[in-house]
Amino acid sequence: MSTFTAPKGSYDILPPDSAVFLATRDALAEPLRRAGYGYIETPIFEDTALFHRGVGESTDVVSKEMYTFDDRGGRSLTLRPEGTAGVMRAFVEHRMHAAQLPAKLYYAGPNFRYERPQAGRYRHFSQVGAEAIGVDDPLLDAELIELADAAFRGAGLTRHRLLLNSLGDRESRAAHREALVRFLARLDLDEETRRRAELNPLRVLDDKRPEMQAALTDAPVSVDFLTDGCRAHYDAVRAALTDLGVTWTEAPKLVRGLDYYTKTTFEFVHDSLGAQSAVGGGGRYDGLSAAIGGPDLTGVGWALGVDRVLLALKAENPARWDELAAANQLDVFLVPIGPQAQRRALGLARDLRADALRVDLAWGGRGLKGAMKAADRSGARFALVLGERDLAAGTAQLKDLASGEQRPVPLDAAAVAAAVRPE
Ligand code: AMP
Repeated sequence: MSTFTAPKGSYDILPPDSAVFLATRDALAEPLRRAGYGYIETPIFEDTALFHRGVGESTDVVSKEMYTFDDRGGRSLTLRPEGTAGVMRAFVEHRMHAAQLPAKLYYAGPNFRYERPQAGRYRHFSQVGAEAIGVDDPLLDAELIELADAAFRGAGLTRHRLLLNSLGDRESRAAHREALVRFLARLDLDEETRRRAELNPLRVLDDKRPEMQAALTDAPVSVDFLTDGCRAHYDAVRAALTDLGVTWTEAPKLVRGLDYYTKTTFEFVHDSLGAQSAVGGGGRYDGLSAAIGGPDLTGVGWALGVDRVLLALKAENPARWDELAAANQLDVFLVPIGPQAQRRALGLARDLRADALRVDLAWGGRGLKGAMKAADRSGARFALVLGERDLAAGTAQLKDLASGEQRPVPLDAAAVAAAVRPE
């Protein structure tokens, strides 16, 4: 019988790498917690229509990549392809606009997109995301961008770069769109690109193919069509970033994969990653709440890709990776010899763990040789051998597994803890 493998585009994260995953995901969220963002957990599936309305029909995400299914009650549900729509749905449903604004919320969890898998691009991937809803203040955009920068740094990266653009509001976008449609009409586009141009010409700017990038060199860009209000907003964001010491590159052709972005738009890239270089992105989405039936409120947010941050970390800072992978390393591995010592070891392990030490023991009634081998393989710093004779004398043998040094210690949790705890 053939065995099973993880579904295409997904992968397992096993120890010790899983410790790096958890620590990194947590490090990415830490700056948010310090900035007043509260954790929100929303369902992994939502009403399919939420994504059609809240992400946009013209996007690849909605038109080609969603995991959509009918449940047994005949409801069309979709595994979330991104986090913002669900957070906004929850915000509206719970009338969070009645409370203090902005509502600052963050989330962490998996997303699902039926994409063509390659290095750094998966069908099941993890994000940490943040949303600040309800106040249209350019300083809030700047704060969020700085928090993303702090998140990457906190996760151990330094070689990330910020790309910045402004897409403008409805009025600026309409003017830009008109100019872009006229420009695109003069190009010889293939069938699919032509179709995309009809649905949302902005998306064509995002075409990464070199021949398209060449054809688009002189394409009209959104920053040239900003209304005075949008220009002032963009200027204020940039001035605040300068104050905060955050550097960026202007990226006038940067558009986002999702339809609802307005004004500030940004992406962080990491140069160690090859084709899938975006480690995070976001922007302002002033139309989203209204688009899903909520009040006319603004928002700004980002999502950082945990899987790609991990790839970048491995490339840029392998020492930090190893350090995090070793963080759950055992302090002591107990080697009890004989049934009486085994029973004693169980209680000793419990007491040492209660004292915040990491402790495991040899299982399965192994003899000294097998149990010492298990101790070596466990990665623990110390082995504590409990022999029958030691037991009678009230001592145990503590062996430093790196140096091989061995000495007797009293068979008592407090004494063992004192002997193994690093100064
Ligand atoms: P998006 O929701 O498309 O704005 O993506 C935000 C971030 O999530 C990106 O910058 C990536 O780091 C990450 N990301 C998006 N799609 C994928 C994917 N298919 N596989 C891995 N990471 C992804």
